[in-house]
Amino acid sequence: MSLDGTYDDGNIFAKILRGEAPAARVFEDDHVLAFMDVFPQSRGHTLVIPKHSVARNLLDEDPGVLANVILGVQRVTRAVRAALNPDGIVVTQFNGAPAGQTVYHLHFHIIPRWEGVALGRHGAGGMADPGELKVLAAEIAAKIS
Ligand code: AMP
Repeated sequence: MSLDGTYDDGNIFAKILRGEAPAARVFEDDHVLAFMDVFPQSRGHTLVIPKHSVARNLLDEDPGVLANVILGVQRVTRAVRAALNPDGIVVTQFNGAPAGQTVYHLHFHIIPRWEGVALGRHGAGGMADPGELKVLAAEIAAKIS
């Protein structure tokens, strides 16, 4: 899928937002929902998405909405740090299939990193255990401030 196109509300994140698909939810406010990535590139890989948006990518997003989304990303990133004590944290975002995007609802990845632990490949890892994701989600949620 290219950078141009129409938002499809059948995408998996839209289904999660509507409660039609399961997710290990971490946090939500009026603007964003955060939940665990089911194919994590590292332990604690978390996604943050706008709740009221039909932006497929960063370029589509209304600047006013985006401001609240990035504040949510910072808030959740701080909670990931407090919960898991990583040595570093990647915050990333992909636009268009050639860039690696696979789900076409704007989202940010929060990927904790530890010294000496290799990063899993984007879109190529195994599915995480749902019970473990639930525990991680609760640990991160407990550190939201
Ligand atoms: P991207 O490739 O940047 O579009 O990122 C999409 C991300 O969503 C990938 O890291 C996937 O592992 C993740 N993902 C796909 N389906 C689900 C799902 N049902 N619940 C949580 N994460 C998902």
